[in-house]
Parts: sequence; structure tokens; C-alpha cells
Amino acid sequence: MEQWLVGVDLGGTTVKLAFVNMYGEIICKWEIPTDKSEQGKHITTHIAKAIDEKLRELDESKERLIGIGIGAPGPVNMATGDIYEAVNLGWKNFPLKDRLEMETGLPVVVDNDANIAAIGEMWKGAGDGAKNLILVTLGTGVGGGVIVNGQIVHGTNGAGGEIGHITSIPEGGAPCNCGKTGCLETIASATGIARIATERLQQTDEPSRLRDVWKQTGAVTAKDVFDAAKENDTLALQIVDEVTFHLGLALAHLANGLNPEKIVIGGGVSKAGSMLAQAVARHFKRFAFPRVAEAADIVIATLGNDAGVIGGAWLVKTNML
Ligand SMILES: [Zn+2]
Repeated sequence: MEQWLVGVDLGGTTVKLAFVNMYGEIICKWEIPTDKSEQGKHITTHIAKAIDEKLRELDESKERLIGIGIGAPGPVNMATGDIYEAVNLGWKNFPLKDRLEMETGLPVVVDNDANIAAIGEMWKGAGDGAKNLILVTLGTGVGGGVIVNGQIVHGTNGAGGEIGHITSIPEGGAPCNCGKTGCLETIASATGIARIATERLQQTDEPSRLRDVWKQTGAVTAKDVFDAAKENDTLALQIVDEVTFHLGLALAHLANGLNPEKIVIGGGVSKAGSMLAQAVARHFKRFAFPRVAEAADIVIATLGNDAGVIGGAWLVKTNML
């Protein structure tokens, strides 16, 4: 009987689940809403139920399943599988591994959500098997995962790979959710790009496609910026240049310390595609040590929302077999 790996990507709004085979191919994937009531205490019960129901639906028994690899939105104590804190879920020192093992009767391995997405891209996505890889996720925030010699870099207290909080504007930057100011996240997240665009629109009267959108809808999004830039709108191109300058600079600093083979850009903003990758690469090349720049390929993530569940499955495969 072919055995399956269970990948779980736990987010603030939905829990994504998948049964995955040994080759990293998804057999079946689905999602359930994240129940954040009562400090998220029901989340593990719901995951266990969802797995049981899916097995029943597929007329399969639990013997099929080897274990669960789960990514959570917060720093992880790798020794215990506890989540130090997940503000999104209301968790503080939450014993995720213990609870989920108890509820499912399956062995569980826990990691951070951005890290499992990076592992997913390494295994089956844009990483193309590269063992030294940086994933930067441009979504509502900026997340990241760093893989060195095929291993996730967790660091001393679970905060390794926090690319979004590299300081880009040392003085006078916008406030960040982490408590600092001027973090990369305040510039290169979808929220950051929209904020910068609004500021630039307010600073001039220059006619622009982007200004038309702004006047019509009262707001601009990161997608509006890239759409206008693709049509050669001058103001939008300037904003893209400003954002990718900071991304290229931060990634070059990081790459100079790691010498990666692949830098994968994921998250909603990465739907901008090759235009984004090329603009980041242009700035990256200016700031990276030449030998580092030569080795590093900057590419767009290919797994989309599946990266996390595939990375979770990889954790099971490498830790439980
Ligand atoms: Zn920050």
C-alpha cells in the first residue's frame, strides 16, 4: 500500500490540508476555515476532524498516513513543537505538536509557515532542487525562509529567515507591526507598495494611469501599480523601481552571507511575474558581491498556495522515514 504524507498550512483565515505521496504529488487537497474563537483552542480538534472526514470520504483508513507536517504562523520552539506566539490565532506558548498528536494519533512535525513554503518550493517548485535557497514572500506582510544545505535555518529562538524585518530605511521609515520602523515589510509588502503609491500620488499632479485608478476608486493596490507599470506608466514605473531597489538591496545583503543558488519570490505580489523578478534582479546585481550575483537565480515561485502543504509533506518524509 502506498503511504501518504499529510501537509497542513495553518493560516489566519484558512487551514490548507493535503494528502501527498512520496514524490511530492498532491493526492487530495482541501481547506477549512480557521476557528480563532477562545484563543484558537479548537484549531487542532478541527484539523483532526477534517483529516478523519476526508479519509472516510475517500474510503481510506488511517494506516495510509505516515504523519503530519504543519506550518504555523509564528516562531516555533523546534525542541518541543510549541508555538512561542501566533498573534493571528491568539496563541501564546501553544503546544501544537502535543495537541495535534493527541487529537490525531499521528506523529506531528511543526515548523513556521514561511519555512515550509520555502521547503515546498525547494522540493517541487521554482527551487528546482537547489539546496541553498532564499524564499521571500510578498503578501500582506513580507515573510521569508532560508534554506542552507537543504536544511531550514531556524536560528537560536525560531526567528531565522525573518527577511521582512531587515531594516531598509534606518531613519524616519514607516512603522512596522514588529515594533521597529523602516522594515522591508513596510515597503515591499502589498500594503507597503499601496502606501508608497498613495504617497507618491499625493506628492505630484503628474498625469498617470495610476492616478486615474486612484481617482476612480479612491485607493490603489500593489496590483494596480504593477498593471500600470506594465503599460509604461511613468509614475508606476518609478514606484516599482523604488520598491525593487529595496528588495534587491536587502536580498543582496542576505545573499552575500549565504551565497544561494535560487532566490524565489512568492506571495500575492509575485503575480506581477517576470517584470518584478527582472527589476529585483537588476538592483540585486548592483549590490551583491559579483561571485554571489553570478550564482543566484532570481525566480518567481511556482507552487502558489500549495507550497506550504507540499513543504509540510516534505517535513514528514525527511523526519519520519
Ligand atoms: Zn518589522
